[in-house]
Amino acid sequence: MRLILLGPPGAGKGTQSARLVNKYGIPQLSTGDMLRAAVAAGTPIGRAAKAVMDSGSLVSDDIVLGIIAERIEQPDAAKGFILDGFPRTVKQAEGLDKLLADKHLSLDAVIELKVNEAELLGRIEKRVKDTLAAGGTVRADDNAEAFKIRLDAYREMTAPVSAYYAGRGELKAVDGMAPIETVSAAIDHALAAGQRV
Ligand code: ADP
Repeated sequence: MRLILLGPPGAGKGTQSARLVNKYGIPQLSTGDMLRAAVAAGTPIGRAAKAVMDSGSLVSDDIVLGIIAERIEQPDAAKGFILDGFPRTVKQAEGLDKLLADKHLSLDAVIELKVNEAELLGRIEKRVKDTLAAGGTVRADDNAEAFKIRLDAYREMTAPVSAYYAGRGELKAVDGMAPIETVSAAIDHALAAGQRV
């Protein structure tokens, strides 16, 4: 199963990915997590990406495509994967098409979590509060200022990615404002429908 989860920051992609990982035994490939790991490890990519990420803007397509190209070659991705936070631009979507075509692979589903933007900041604020309460470290871009830039980047660069897949009849929209279990059930339904969603 090769699956893309689309949706703005705070839409619940991470939450749903975690469940799908358990259900299908395939890895979640989050470019955000991979980039944060590169920042933490102080690699050249991490050093180049840190300031861009902290501000809420997008890292360059070439960097992200390079990371994904390498990651999908790993043995654990052979059976499939869930892409979370990628592709975020049409150029990335085109790059992914090429990567998959070179390996004679195709996507099984592209699912978009539809959410009411007005509620997203509240979700991020709750995530920050919960993280602090649990003694965790808050992401450098989980603040109102960077969040606004993340949302702007989403509208400008990533909304066209939904249109890209919708234009090919591959997009399935799910209501991301519903309770977590309801969203999960809607995703299962979309996947079980058998059609290329
Ligand atoms: P979000 O919660 O906003 O969905 P992520 O954890 O997916 O955040 O990503 C955090 C940051 O990492 C982004 O704001 C961006 O700077 C960078 N990033 C992650 N994925 C990509 C991508 N596919 N293309 C460009 N930048 C990315």
